Amino acid sequence: MRQTGFAGRLAVAAGLVLLLPAACQPAGPETPVEASPAAPLMRVTILGSGTPVPSRSQTGTAILVEAGGEVMLIDCGNGCTARLAEYDPGLLTEVDHVFLTHLHSDHVVGLPDLWLNGWTQGREEPFHVWGPEGTEALFDGLRTAYDADISIRTRARLAAGGSPLTVEAQNLPPEGRVIAGTGAVKVTAFPVVHAGMPAFGYRLEYAGKVVVISGDTTATPTLAEAGQGAGLYLMEVLSPAMVGYLTSSFSEARANAILGLHLTASQAAGVMAETEPGLAVYYHTVASCSTDGALLAETAETYDGAVMVSRDLMQIRLWGDHLDTDYLGEDPTDCD
Ligand SMILES: [Zn+2]
Repeated sequence: MRQTGFAGRLAVAAGLVLLLPAACQPAGPETPVEASPAAPLMRVTILGSGTPVPSRSQTGTAILVEAGGEVMLIDCGNGCTARLAEYDPGLLTEVDHVFLTHLHSDHVVGLPDLWLNGWTQGREEPFHVWGPEGTEALFDGLRTAYDADISIRTRARLAAGGSPLTVEAQNLPPEGRVIAGTGAVKVTAFPVVHAGMPAFGYRLEYAGKVVVISGDTTATPTLAEAGQGAGLYLMEVLSPAMVGYLTSSFSEARANAILGLHLTASQAAGVMAETEPGLAVYYHTVASCSTDGALLAETAETYDGAVMVSRDLMQIRLWGDHLDTDYLGEDPTDCD
């Protein structure tokens, strides 16, 4: 179902169709799979495109990747579960793997909602979560925090399913590694530099397609190394609008501290210039019709390839020889 059922719900008019150059179609480590018209090889849905600033239109970071029969989530910020249900309620019990970029709350605060919702609705497989050191402790704490609810629901048999509460949380080493247990999808956690805490980006490969997610990071050489051959590079960024918000709302010292934790547009563009992805998409930023232009203009000073600024429920599909983009419902980037 999940490979075919929900595509029809997306708006028919594609936002963008790009033919992928040969450089973005590396020979994959797995058996190549033919792209059929009904099934892209990889489907990436940005459930949450926003920042810690609460917003109805841009919820916290959460990126869904569907490929090779696996349903994978990178981060689960505020609103993550609601957006997942908006996309496809059947997936509440079907997320196989969650990869955490780091443990800042705006990237994990939606996890208990997804975990417990999946449980009550009949999850049949354990909830697999990988992240930096502290991930296992996070779930130990969540189990304790929600003990009253779990005990009551268990006693009253209010939850469906058999052993769905099981969490298999694993701390990854600071240098990152290839993650086992993700079927035909090769997932590699690579280290990035963020706030003095262990933090990762992720590279996902399937059938010759490569999707890379930067995670929250400052400029670091691993971004270009991990981004080689990417058909799609999802990149966090400090938009000029976000810089303006921080510098006008916070003290100079606090604003500078936050600005020093993330990629500027020109730094992000530098990574794009080194990797030349089929498409680069910004996330974890304030996006709007009135501010996207300045972000893209700053990017274009360094990089002239295809770049888009995402909103919630943007989908990017990687086919055999091209990728296309779409939105669930109305395209919020249609500014005319
Ligand atoms: Zn962060």
